[in-house]
Amino acid sequence: MKFEDYRIADGIKTSISKLGYKKPTDIQFKSIPAILKGEDVLAIAQTGTGKTAAFAIPILHRLQERKVLGRPNAVRCLVMTPTHELALQVDNVFRTLGKHTRVTTYCIHGGVGQDPQKEKLEDGVDILIVTPGRMFDLVSQGALDLSRVETLVLDEADHMLDLGFIKDIRDVMRHLPTRRQTLFFSATINEEIKDIAYSLVRSQAIRIQISPKDPVAKNIEHAVAYIEMDDKRFFLEGMINNHPDAKTLVFVRTKVRAERVKKAMERVKLITDTIHSGREHADRERTMNSFRSGALKILIATDVSARGIDIPNVEYVINYDLPETAAQYVHRVGRTGRGTNKGQAYSFCSKEEKEVLAEIEENLGKPITRLKVTKAEYANTVANTLEPEIDKKYDWQALIDEHQVEEEKRKKKKKKKRK
Ligand code: AMP
Repeated sequence: MKFEDYRIADGIKTSISKLGYKKPTDIQFKSIPAILKGEDVLAIAQTGTGKTAAFAIPILHRLQERKVLGRPNAVRCLVMTPTHELALQVDNVFRTLGKHTRVTTYCIHGGVGQDPQKEKLEDGVDILIVTPGRMFDLVSQGALDLSRVETLVLDEADHMLDLGFIKDIRDVMRHLPTRRQTLFFSATINEEIKDIAYSLVRSQAIRIQISPKDPVAKNIEHAVAYIEMDDKRFFLEGMINNHPDAKTLVFVRTKVRAERVKKAMERVKLITDTIHSGREHADRERTMNSFRSGALKILIATDVSARGIDIPNVEYVINYDLPETAAQYVHRVGRTGRGTNKGQAYSFCSKEEKEVLAEIEENLGKPITRLKVTKAEYANTVANTLEPEIDKKYDWQALIDEHQVEEEKRKKKKKKKRK
């Protein structure tokens, strides 16, 4: 099936073809017809599958078809997203796809002044993309009327729950009409998510699950290497130097770590920048734009700030620190290999992180490929750093032996399990 064959407005088809999309992705193929018919949808789809366009295309079409001219628009579609970055990205997809329609789109999030937002809402918009906090502020002040919402979208619902927005989601329901279309998108599924999903969608909702067996998309190669905490910076330095022009997204555990890694890279003359909750919203946006455009090649990020964001052409994702959960792992590596591109992701696992690694693999349902770093390669990577005053006397042999013993144990355990 091609996009040309869909019964959607010509203006939307023009935008789709300008974007270079030829045929729908899996999630689009499965959800567009249902959403066009006005059905509720409950979709489990990992990031990078094209899920934003999967809801944006049919929503734009429906709103365009039934647009009443000359009347101020109330909000007709509300899209809730967990973070600023994702909200802006979703807004961008709606704008790009809706460029040749009369449907209006607006995005509100915290971290910026409220007055321009209130003015814009007074004029009326068709599609409103929000982060929960600011939306509630505006609703409680009476500046935002949600009583005429026809379609509600919850994007990355699992992440919204992680961030503690569950109460906000329930609260917003009180302001929405009960007769509405609800589209619920989540990258992962568990009992809690099922509960909330079923409480929001109608019982005959269409259920769609994309690649449930392997949560990491097929076009992403991902592997893990054993690297000690104090050596991680040398390996990052080495990787950057080996691929100086590659767009690389580096994940760390905390904002403090992000700044430290940036400093470590500065010492070896590598330019990087950070994105995390400790930075001003405007700075974050500037950094993101620079990374998007390719002016900045290396971005060091924490989970919260970078989750869900779509950056074109990220070639490498590096888990400088392992994430705490398999869901986070899936989200992180999903920053590369977007759409039809291929991507690579590497994780650095230190002694302290081996337990977390085992848990992640358990939840992924399969082991992650081990990247073999030979003793000589390990020693060379550390020895080749440009970092001044580095103590290069290290007991490599002991370190490598220890890794090998661990690996043997792991293999034996796996064999035993298979039997
Ligand atoms: P998403 O999962 O919505 O974040 O989308 C991931 C990426 O896939 C984005 O960069 C989209 O531009 C791209 N994409 C979405 N739909 C298609 C399509 N039908 N063909 C090719 N790329 C697509």
